[in-house]
Order: sequence, then structure tokens, then C-alpha cells
Amino acid sequence: MNYEVIIIGAGLGGLTAAAKLAKSGKKVLLLEQHYVPGGCATTFKRKDFTIEVGLHELDGFSETGFKSKIFKELGVFDHVDFIRLPEFYKSVWKNQSFVVADSLKNIKTDLIKEFPQEEKGIVQYFNFIIGVNAEISMLPKGKFEKIVKGALFPIYFPKLVKSTRITVGEFLDDIIKDERLKLILLSNVTYYHDDPYNLSLFYFAAGQASYYQDGGYFIKGGSQKLSDYLMKFIQDNGGELKLKAKVNKIIIEKGRAVGVQYHTSNKGNEDFTVAHGNAIIANTAIPNLTNELLPETEAGLLSEQTKSLEYGPSILSLYLGFSKKPKEIGNKHYSTFIIDDSVESIKDIHANNKAGFNKRSFVFVDYGMIDSGLAPDGKAVGVICTMDYYSDWDNLDKDAYKSRKEEIKNILIERLEKQLPGIKEIIEYAELSTPKTIERYTLNPAGSPYGYAQTLNQSARNRLKTRSGIPGLYYASAWSTPGGGFSGAIYSGYVGALAVIKDLKK
Ligand SMILES: Cc1cc2nc3c(=O)[nH]c(=O)nc-3n(C[C@H](O)[C@H](O)[C@H](O)COP(=O)(O)OP(=O)(O)OC[C@H]3O[C@@H](n4cnc5c(N)ncnc54)[C@H](O)[C@@H]3O)c2cc1C
Repeated sequence: MNYEVIIIGAGLGGLTAAAKLAKSGKKVLLLEQHYVPGGCATTFKRKDFTIEVGLHELDGFSETGFKSKIFKELGVFDHVDFIRLPEFYKSVWKNQSFVVADSLKNIKTDLIKEFPQEEKGIVQYFNFIIGVNAEISMLPKGKFEKIVKGALFPIYFPKLVKSTRITVGEFLDDIIKDERLKLILLSNVTYYHDDPYNLSLFYFAAGQASYYQDGGYFIKGGSQKLSDYLMKFIQDNGGELKLKAKVNKIIIEKGRAVGVQYHTSNKGNEDFTVAHGNAIIANTAIPNLTNELLPETEAGLLSEQTKSLEYGPSILSLYLGFSKKPKEIGNKHYSTFIIDDSVESIKDIHANNKAGFNKRSFVFVDYGMIDSGLAPDGKAVGVICTMDYYSDWDNLDKDAYKSRKEEIKNILIERLEKQLPGIKEIIEYAELSTPKTIERYTLNPAGSPYGYAQTLNQSARNRLKTRSGIPGLYYASAWSTPGGGFSGAIYSGYVGALAVIKDLKK
């Protein structure tokens, strides 16, 4: 079969690219190896519960922000309900807690009240973080790269340029002394990377500013609603989507990507189908292209650009179903970050992320605090998450893997019980997902859902761009530009589609 564009993978990057292309009248084929679309943006059913695989908080809801524009164009706001969260998060450390409110004004006032001696640093912090986002919104089209390199308009984009040259840890150490304040501001740093002294301030600022200014959101019914809507949009606009269709080869002719080979059988490599396209978009992780999908010559070309890039860390999730809402036993917040007492300063965050599960800091998300649509009346769904690494689970045989999962599940439940006495009693369902689980369902190598690590060296300035360098092959995923998270993947899909539309015109 011949198509104008073939997209490998129906994660948010692939779905957005296919939706934009189908709307633009292109003949698209979207191939997804799983039996549901969405990648990390999926849900699954257990007992009474709809379990959210990934989404805790969604950023990027400014009226004029890129995601709102994309959602408006694709009709998302008319078909998917977004629920504003009651606050950004609660942070707990050494028996002291602090709630980061859902509006910038309240956050600043509350922080200055709690840390009056740090008023100057707090003001500087927000001026800078919000300033980076403001400068991003002023970027002239197509000039991002030159601007962050400092080659264009340096006086108009000073914060943006600086944010790509400094780590979050260095930035905070420069302006704030109180370690508790720094830990509060960095409670959710694991949503970006495992080490604040390596994490590019650019990524942190872009995401955090959006949460501070425009709030965090959850999707009613779970992120599958967004993925399902995009799938329907693609089909309604004439696009073709095949589930349980795994691409095992990208066909290259005369140095150009011209098609794919895929199979729809679960059993193995029989039932191959070949489809041809003028452009191929890879939503699949970029390392899968070099390790498996491309022929040797092209794999070698891409490896030259990617072999030294570090993968982002993975995530461990303990999915929970409750027979009662945790608020009935005293929980008051949607998202609570528990920073382990062994962490003395932000310098300890990295080591703590690699510590045993009895010490690793964690977040507890209680979807029962909002009208999430994930559980029947009176019941609720929640999740405990920590940063995690493939190496924590590698080289275990089936039984050892299973018993380690059981052990970690119990450790995390006991730790939550300490924070919320009585929670154990109301757990009706508990299941652990490891980096191996993420790898299995999304084919992200090492279970890295955020793609290449969002470090200073791999930041905006040298992130892999949409056009792969191999004619006809494009990227649209957390692994390419701008980076990971729902918003990053959606944006990558949209700009991937724009690049293809432009190139197909030529
Ligand atoms: C536990 C967890 C919590 C998270 N929490 C948040 C959060 O609160 N907020 C936030 O913004 N982000 C969060 N994220 C991150 C976010 O979900 C991801 O960064 C983003 O969804 C990645 O989207 P993607 O399009 O790059 O690809 P993915 O979601 O990785 O999807 C890739 C798709 O490609 C398919 N595929 C791969 N190879 C092939 C092939 N050869 N043939 C066919 N199909 C293929 C896969 O099956 C998959 O469906 C979380 C992620 C996880 C795992």
C-alpha cells in the first residue's frame, strides 16, 4: 500500500503528528504495536478501577500557549475534559510540610511568609523562572536555535539563553541559602530528571513556570481519553490506524526512507506487510531505530549522532485501588511528595534516587481528591511513584523478579502507612510497574519515558531535531525536540507534522 506519511508508534507524539497530517488532508498510516493507542498516555482496568498508567499532572494550559493552540486546532477541548488540580503539590520533609498552592500569587506569598529571610531569593527565583517562559512565548518562528546559541537578539532573550547554560542546582544555590526552601521548590524535580546538578534549568523552568502560572491538570477518565479521542480524530479525517502492528524494519532506497515492514501477528515474524510512504515519522524511541529498525549504513549514520547520549531515568509506579477515598482517613491533598529524612540538602537528591526503596523519596498521588472518573462512587485510585532504573530489575529470573516486586510493594505500602495511618486497611488492589513494564508496553529502551536525559549537555541547544538527517525520516517523540512529558511529546508530534507538510510540498 502507498501512503503519504507512515507513523511508527501511537504515543502522544505519533497521535498528534497523525492527527495534524490527517487534518491537512494527507493520506496517513499510523502503526502501533500495543492493542491500545497512547503509549505512556493509557489506562487499564483492574477490578472496579481504571488505572492511570502515567499522568499525574499536565502542564501547558495558558490560553495562548502552544499546547492550547494545538488542542483547539484538533478539537480536543470539545471532547476531552480537563480537571484543574486543587494545588500544585504538598511537600513533606522531616515532619514539616508545605503546600505549593495553585496560583503564582499565593505560592509567592506563602513562601515569603514561611521564609521571610529569603524574600529576595524567592522574588529572584520566580522572576527568572517566569521570565524564561515569557521569553519562550516571544520566540520568533524558526529562530529558537540561533537565539539559544546567543547568535541572535541576545539582549531580548537573556533568561532563556542563561537557562540553557546552567543547572537547576547551581541556579538555586546562587540565590537561596535555606535548604528546606530549595527542597520545597525541587520536590517534583524527578518529573524532569534524577539530578538537579545535571538537569538543564531550561526544562525545569519551562515546565514549572507553566504549572505556577496556569495550574496543573488531570484528564477526566484518565489519559486514555485523550489518546482515544486523537485516534478517532485521525480516523474521522481519513487516516488509517492499525493496532497490534509492530514495525520491524524501515525500508531505505538510495539513502531515503521510503516505507516500513510490519507484522500484525503476536506469534512472531510471520505475516509481514510492506507499506510505502513519502515520509516516515518515528514516534518509537530513537535508539530503536539504530538498534533494530534501520539497515546497517543508516543505523551507523544515526549512531554517530546518538551513541554518546545518556538515557533519562525510568519510573517505578505502585498502582493502588482503594475501597474508600483516602480523604476519609485524613488525606487532604492530590499530590504529596515525601522527601526522605536522610536527604539533608538538594546535593543529596541524586544519591537518594539511587538509594534502597526504604529511603528513596516518593510521591503519592490521590486521584480520589478530584472527580477523576477512575473509580466508582466512594472508591478511589492512587499511585506511589519513585525514580527508578532498569538496572534495579535487570538480570533477575522470573521468580526473583516477582518476589522483588512483592518486596518493594510492601516497603512502599508501609512507608505510605507511616504518612497516612489507616491507608493499608483500605487498599483493595495494588500492583507494581517497573522500568521493565514500561519497556514492555511502550518499547522505550531501559523504560525511559522521558527519552534522552534532559541534562545541560543534552538541552535545548543540542537536542535532536525533527529531521533525522536521513531523507524522508523524521522524529516525533520524547526522545527528540523539545523533550519528554505529555506536552513535549505533543509538541514534537505537531512540529514533526509541520516539517513533513513543508517537505512534501517541495
Ligand atoms: C509512570 C509515568 C508517569 C508519568 N507522569 C507524567 C506526568 O505526570 N506528566 C507528564 O507530562 N508526563 C508524564 N510522563 C511522561 C510522558 O507520559 C511521556 O514522556 C510521553 O507520554 C511520551 O510520549 P511519546 O509520544 O514520546 O511516546 P510513548 O508514550 O513512549 O509511545 C511510543 C509508542 O510507540 C509504540 N511503538 C514503539 N515501537 C514501535 C514499533 N516498532 N512498532 C509499532 N509501535 C511502536 C509504543 O508501543 C508506544 O505506544 C509519565 C510517564 C510515565 C511512564
